[in-house]
Amino acid sequence: PVITRFAPSPTGFLHIGGARTALFNWLYARRNGGTMLLRIEDTDRERSTEAAIDAILDGLKWLGLDWDGDVVYQASRADRHRDAVETLLAQGRAYRCYATPAELDAMRDLARAEKRPPRYDGRWRDRDPAEAPAGVKPVVRLRAPQDGSTVLHDGVQGTVTWANKDLDDLVLLRSDGSPTYMLAVVVDDHDMGVTQIIRGDDHLTNAARQMQIYEALGWSVPAMAHIPLIHGADGAKLSKRHGALGVEQYRAMGYLPEALRNYLLRLGWSQGDREFFSTDEMVAAFALDGVGRSPSRFDFAKLENMDGHYIRAADDAHLVDALAATLPHLPGGEAVLAKLDGEMRAKLLAAMPGLKERAKTLVELLDGALFLFADRPLAMDAKAGDILAKGAGVLRGLLPRLEALPEWSAASTEGAVRAEAEATGAKLGQVAQPLRAALTGRSTSPGIFDVLEVLGRDESLGRLRDAAG
Ligand code: GLU
Repeated sequence: PVITRFAPSPTGFLHIGGARTALFNWLYARRNGGTMLLRIEDTDRERSTEAAIDAILDGLKWLGLDWDGDVVYQASRADRHRDAVETLLAQGRAYRCYATPAELDAMRDLARAEKRPPRYDGRWRDRDPAEAPAGVKPVVRLRAPQDGSTVLHDGVQGTVTWANKDLDDLVLLRSDGSPTYMLAVVVDDHDMGVTQIIRGDDHLTNAARQMQIYEALGWSVPAMAHIPLIHGADGAKLSKRHGALGVEQYRAMGYLPEALRNYLLRLGWSQGDREFFSTDEMVAAFALDGVGRSPSRFDFAKLENMDGHYIRAADDAHLVDALAATLPHLPGGEAVLAKLDGEMRAKLLAAMPGLKERAKTLVELLDGALFLFADRPLAMDAKAGDILAKGAGVLRGLLPRLEALPEWSAASTEGAVRAEAEATGAKLGQVAQPLRAALTGRSTSPGIFDVLEVLGRDESLGRLRDAAG
């Protein structure tokens, strides 16, 4: 059975690259009837935080990327990691190294002078531990092969070869007895039964080291796929300015999780030039051969367009739910949430067809819907204020016609507005403009007769009387 895993380090939020890695692992597992496990790589005790763990779990849940089984915390497995090192020591596949910090510094200086990457020179590889200097606590190093090569058949990068002479004897256990990251990843992936690793290509050189550890332990190496990192629209490494933000920030910018998921899928994976995939469609279509080999570029405009598409296509009730769930994360959202009772929900639902045509994000959707929640007398924006300064008289003429309507609907109110325009020789817009300003406090809104219907008779007439003076 296929087993993938997502293995974030909780030293920061779930950023957009991590979210894409999680998505690819999730899709690969779902596509192949397998499971995706979640491992929190919290071995860096100084930099790992509870808040980051919460943000990662929340972000995954919001994106709908569920994992199978319990979360594995890497730090809790340190004893098991040490056991694996004991096995390697007993088999002569690892050895204790007593090189002092000064000796290691000298190796680094030499490398710098020779303009090559630093490497440990193997001085304790074959030396008798009886010669160990007093007071130096050893590290444990892998007795790595010195000849031949390490070859990875990567699911994305193709065949990658390293000459073993370029790889030194890496540290497995530090002098304080703590396992290194390189060791922990191998032991955990093995114990968790991982069959397919999918991660960023910043881990590609680690793969060679990890393969040597697998080989020393006599374990088979999982399949690996290293996906190119995400770059900014200008081709430079992704920074905050480019969108290297936490997933929770995308939520606060009002993107729908399904739209962000679709966008992340297309960021580095393609099937022809098709853009839109529902969750079922992406599960059915996902394969590693669709992952590109060059870095993809993050493009906010494209994400926004995709989100607008998802909003327009979404079911109205789903959008009410999505907006309600997102309100705590949106600027000004808490105040709206406090007013969102059953009646207001019904109004929001009724207004949704008009609202969703005009919004690319939930932030814009909320902005368009604010007039529903506004208290009387309405605050006017500058343009609406100007329109009303000139148009209050028009409203005074219109009010009696609306007040006289036996029933209140978009059609009946439209009839009244047209009748008033005809009677006064005004164009429809000359009546509709002050009407819109009075009802919404804005100069733009969904269709004005829909606004009248959604607000209802009492609220509409109240707002009009306020504005007519
Ligand atoms: N913890 C690593 C990271 O967050 C990932 C390790 C892996 O996938 O092997 O970059």
